[in-house]
Amino acid sequence: MKKMDCILCKFRESMNKRCIFACIMIFFVVMIAGCYSYTAKYKTDYKKPAPSNPVVTKQNDKKQEKSESHSFAKYPFEITMLDVGQGLCVLIRENDEYMVYDGGGGDSSRRVVSIVSGAKNIKSLRYMFASHYDQDHISGLIGLLNRVTVGMAIIPGYQEKTKTYFSFKRALEKARSVVYANSGQRYKLGNANIDILYATNGKEEKENDRSTVIKVSYGNFSCIITGDAEAETEAKLVKDSANLSCDLYIVGHHGSSTSSTPDFVAAMKPKLAFISVGKDNKFGHPSKKTLKTLENNSTKIYRSDTQGDIVLAYDGKEYSIITAKNEAPLVKSAADENLEQDYVLNTKRMKYHRKNCKNVVTISDKNRKLVHSSKKALENEGYSPCGYCQP
Ligand SMILES: [Zn+2]
Ligand SMILES: [Zn+2]
Repeated sequence: MKKMDCILCKFRESMNKRCIFACIMIFFVVMIAGCYSYTAKYKTDYKKPAPSNPVVTKQNDKKQEKSESHSFAKYPFEITMLDVGQGLCVLIRENDEYMVYDGGGGDSSRRVVSIVSGAKNIKSLRYMFASHYDQDHISGLIGLLNRVTVGMAIIPGYQEKTKTYFSFKRALEKARSVVYANSGQRYKLGNANIDILYATNGKEEKENDRSTVIKVSYGNFSCIITGDAEAETEAKLVKDSANLSCDLYIVGHHGSSTSSTPDFVAAMKPKLAFISVGKDNKFGHPSKKTLKTLENNSTKIYRSDTQGDIVLAYDGKEYSIITAKNEAPLVKSAADENLEQDYVLNTKRMKYHRKNCKNVVTISDKNRKLVHSSKKALENEGYSPCGYCQP
């Protein structure tokens, strides 16, 4: 009888028992690998966040409503306010280009450097903005200058006499270029625009008011960052700036009562506010007054002392927000109650959950229902909020 050639082995030898066994083994290995990769894919798709991502809290409004996919790397634009305790550090990404605005104080410098050059593996920053020369804003920048390539450092045009200032000036020698901030200047970070709305003239009474104020825009999304600017600079902005409206306000001077004047906040009408503030800080930041002003403008507040790192990612139409700690903001505005967003209902236990709540996966199909509704409407229907995800 004519012996067959084995197709899989591609050897010109004839099909024998050993060969058949090898073929069967290869077949099984391929099958198992296929199934495994399918399961792995299914799991990561279904069970966010991705390993490096912290807990998700999502805020819906017109620009949102993103399905649950939390690999923010896919988003072309991302703003991260790192938890640096009492200080400020904002990292902005447009595709694979990065910039920082402030670097936090000495206590968190190591954390900032390890996140930027370690966890995020960023080799170079296109821009580095220093708002002003207080140590809680520039100490971390010194660490970054020593570890990553800095394209252009944009610094405020005044001098200081502190030790931190001199170390910062020395470290700046490592930047490819150093320029003074000028109001009206625009820098491009990929498709994002960085506009300087205010730069010091060296005559402001308080050093905080010398902070460089920027507006970062990407598509229809925009964000204003004011460093530690206070009422004097804010008043000038209200008077001189054509367009202060923005989606996100990185709250000035850690939410101090000397910043975020009602006129300024009303001119911005931010939907979101991120406050960078140390837990139980000695300054009493953020002030009740500032929180109230934001609340009066129906601004949703996120704060680093209770929520850790806060990441906002924008895909050109919608944004999502992730916070490292899933604590609810301390201030809830009345608007929250009526805000319509996606919730998952457990129709048997009469509970409603955030879409990303870990309890959602435990609800059986027949009792699980996805709805787009407001807390108030759901509670009127007899539903109560899940104690874990605290929607
Ligand atoms: Zn500060
Ligand atoms: Zn300051």
